[in-house]
Amino acid sequence: MSAILIKPSDRVFVLTGAGISAESGLPTFRDSDGLWAGYRIEDVCTPEAWERSPADVWAFYSARRAAGQKAQPNPAHTALAGLEKQLPGRFFLCTQNVDDLHERAGSVNLLHMHGELAKSRCERACGAEPVEDDRVYANLNEVGRCACGGRLRPHIVFFGEMPLGMDRIRREIRQSTLMLVVGTSGSVYPAANFVHWARFEGARTVYLGPEAPLNADAFTHVVEGKAGEVLPGLFHLEA
Ligand code: NAD
Repeated sequence: MSAILIKPSDRVFVLTGAGISAESGLPTFRDSDGLWAGYRIEDVCTPEAWERSPADVWAFYSARRAAGQKAQPNPAHTALAGLEKQLPGRFFLCTQNVDDLHERAGSVNLLHMHGELAKSRCERACGAEPVEDDRVYANLNEVGRCACGGRLRPHIVFFGEMPLGMDRIRREIRQSTLMLVVGTSGSVYPAANFVHWARFEGARTVYLGPEAPLNADAFTHVVEGKAGEVLPGLFHLEA
């Protein structure tokens, strides 16, 4: 397919999902019948799961940390970091991913709407900020507590919780003229709605992934392929 043109007047909003990290060896969420790395989401990624068994939740996220630390950014992460450098002040990256492969590839103007694997925060809404924490815990006794006494939980937005940074995301989408969505099935909300918000603002909307997402109809272009293979040559910048 021919390259997608980025004009000098364009502002680019990128949304990435689990698919962009697939070629780095991190399993997507729906790879095997709605499981994530062999787990049922409701057993490990919900407030109820945390209430029921913080040990199981930490076992799952400790395993994700271990896998994430071994993974390396792939050419799709690198291409987005390169695009940001070419579009100073006109590029914003929002990821649903909790791994840190985008920042390790060099992305800077980046928001993790579903949290970050390498941080923890108090389980209570006590006002304490999330803390850097990439430890892989062998059991619950190793997990620290906040000054208020609450147990530390992964800094992850569980299903049913409010995503992070929504005001900024809305603002960025409102200003954008081109939205690129990479490797997300279009089944997790509100992220699956971003393309509709962008269309409402008159933006061009491009999806890249090996299969059409559930919300494919909302895109002006659907490019079928693997992110690491297609993304590095997808855009042409008009001088
Ligand atoms: P999803 O698993 O629902 O969908 C993954 C999508 O990626 C699919 O549409 C698939 O076709 C596509 N894909 C697979 N290989 C690809 C490739 N090589 N290039 C491009 N696309 C490819 O993922 P989702 O929509 O992002 O929702 C999953 C949720 O689970 C997210 O909210 C995220 O927080 C979490 N999650 C995060 C990670 C991570 O941080 N790496 C991994 C799994 C799940």
